[in-house]
Amino acid sequence: MDGQKTILVAEDEEDIRELLKSVLERSGYNVVLAEDGKKALVSVREKKPDLIILDLMLPFLSGWEVCVEIKRDPKLSQIPVIVLTATSLDQAKLAKVNADDYLAKPCSSQELTTRVAALLKKSSAAEKTKPDANPYGTNRLL
Ligand code: CA
Repeated sequence: MDGQKTILVAEDEEDIRELLKSVLERSGYNVVLAEDGKKALVSVREKKPDLIILDLMLPFLSGWEVCVEIKRDPKLSQIPVIVLTATSLDQAKLAKVNADDYLAKPCSSQELTTRVAALLKKSSAAEKTKPDANPYGTNRLL
């Protein structure tokens, strides 16, 4: 019972937001949208998505600030974050906010879904290796 994965897309440009939504929905994900940084943060706290796609240039709170908030909250920090950027990215800054991956705009839908699937796989694997995360699912002798 894996259930459908929920992805939060935080992007202020409507065209891109809707495009990301349709690509992700076609791949079978449940998509939640936010059009600015404040709403994104509220939505992350409420919905606890399985992954976040975060545009860096957002009104009210930038993607950088949103990422910092997520990664310093112990209840949210394990959620993978892919940042979206229109400009070439400062890798050092990216590492500083602990983003898990990034995509440069424009990106192909295939690139997007590949990155998303890889990160979701990685995070569910991390979940399974946590002690007692899944006590009945593995072949333990004792
Ligand atoms: Ca933007």
